[in-house]
Amino acid sequence: MNVPRVALTLMEVPIHDVTMEEAISYTRQWIAEKSGFYQVATVNPEFLMAARKHGAFRATLQKAALCVPDGIGVLAAARLRGTHLRERVAGSDLVPRLAAEAARCGWRVFFLGAAPGIAERAADILATRYPGLQIAGCYAGSPALVEEDAIVARVRATQTDLLLVAYGAPKQDLWLARNLHRTGATVGIGVGGSFDFIAGLTRRAPRWIQRVGLEWLYRLLQEPRRWRRQLALPHFAVLILLGRDAPLSS
Ligand code: UDP
Repeated sequence: MNVPRVALTLMEVPIHDVTMEEAISYTRQWIAEKSGFYQVATVNPEFLMAARKHGAFRATLQKAALCVPDGIGVLAAARLRGTHLRERVAGSDLVPRLAAEAARCGWRVFFLGAAPGIAERAADILATRYPGLQIAGCYAGSPALVEEDAIVARVRATQTDLLLVAYGAPKQDLWLARNLHRTGATVGIGVGGSFDFIAGLTRRAPRWIQRVGLEWLYRLLQEPRRWRRQLALPHFAVLILLGRDAPLSS
């Protein structure tokens, strides 16, 4: 199979034009080959605004094997640049789809991050939904540097194929950039609030709200503490409209 195609860059971050099916298919190929390790990032406008400021985060996304377009804002920005991205690949949709594929193919999956007990709850729900899903392990831990070696050892001991990390962006993606190669996992994905959604801690916007591009508003009403972070969205729109999306730091 071909390697994922970079369709365009925004804030110097590559965006791959992949569908959900193709993202699953790359993961399947990488885990079958077991010849390296592959980081997947689910890039939305908040990621891009953070990458604009933080060189280390930007470099992490530039090195990732796959940057899927997560967010209607990314698709709209691409369209303004004359690039058609075929579909939005949301991290919170990707996780259950990968769990189904893991159950089918016999991959071992490790659930790292979120509040204590949430990774377990999400993993149990997915294992009930997809019988045969092999849960390599679940652990909340934290993205703090002092915990890294212990967490890496814990994951490594479980012989994981797929490592899902829910520490929110950019922490989860930086964590994977530093550690994925040490964990023994083949594919690592930063999954943001996905475990919270699956465990029922937060609710995903209904499909029609997602379709009209208002998932951000639904999430803001549900988690008002996000307002400051979500200011990145109008700022992103203005920068894209003005064509001023060069990074601020080198
Ligand atoms: N989280 C964590 N440790 C941290 C920061 C975040 O476990 O130090 C978890 C948090 O509990 C949540 C997930 O990371 O389950 C995603 O957080 P957030 O909603 O901020 O991320 P987003 O979905 O916006 O990337």
